[in-house]
Parts: sequence; structure tokens; C-alpha cells
Amino acid sequence: MKFLCDAMLAHVGKRLRSAGYDTTIDRGQLADRELLEIANREDRYFLTCDREIKHHKASEHVVYLPSNDELVWAKYLTNELGVDWTYAPFTRCLECNTTLRQAGPEERLRAPENLRQEGKRALYCETCDKVYWDGSHVERMIRHLEHLKDL
Ligand SMILES: [Zn+2]
Repeated sequence: MKFLCDAMLAHVGKRLRSAGYDTTIDRGQLADRELLEIANREDRYFLTCDREIKHHKASEHVVYLPSNDELVWAKYLTNELGVDWTYAPFTRCLECNTTLRQAGPEERLRAPENLRQEGKRALYCETCDKVYWDGSHVERMIRHLEHLKDL
């Protein structure tokens, strides 16, 4: 299951990425028609809060998410599309959607001393050249995903 989010739903897209789903997030530059084309071509659910697109009904891929309320959209994605919020947490870069890999010895050297000594897990995004450390931020993110699953 793959997704495409319009710019207004970037926050939803980030959650889906954090849960491990392949999610493209529009930056507000593409026309509706282009977004629909991407959704069809790449077989992605196109999540949008744009009423015009909903009425367009040009594609069975379009999912209209009119609410910014996390309780509403998270529940909808769980119940209607079968999103599993604990599918593969912390496996994709939140910024660019690239699949993360284990950080190598050189990348690990960039970490603060205390994290390295604790032997924390580190993951690396080749596209952003960014290292993600298994720390309190990641733990919070995973707890939040578990919370979404229980809504
Ligand atoms: Zn990245």
C-alpha cells in the first residue's frame, strides 16, 4: 500500500512514513491533474482535503480526508484502508521517503559520544545524508504510532 498526500496533508504523510509506508508528499507545486496521474501510474492512494478533487471522481485512488483532527483521519485510514500504524516503524526517512539502512561505522562516528557508547541503533538516509538515532525522539514516535493503532 502506497500513498500520495497533497501539501495540506503533509502531516498525515509524515505519520504514514514514520509507520513505514511509501508516501510521496506534494509540495504544493503540482496541478490536481498531475497528482491524479502520479496516483494512477504509481498505484498510490491519493489523500486529499480538496473538495474539488473529490467531486472530480476521476480516480478510484482518491481518498478524501476533510479533517485535520488526528482522531478522525487516523481512524479512517485504519478502518477504511487497513493502515497498520505499527507496520514497519522507523524504516523510512521522514524527510524524503527513502528506505533507511543501518548506519555504517563512519556514519556512526557522527553521533554524540554518549549515544555511541550506549550502543544505540543508528539508521542512515543516503539521500539526505542524515543519521537517525534510536533515542527518546524515536521512542516517542513509536509510542504515538501505537496510540494511533488503538484509536
Ligand atoms: Zn532522507
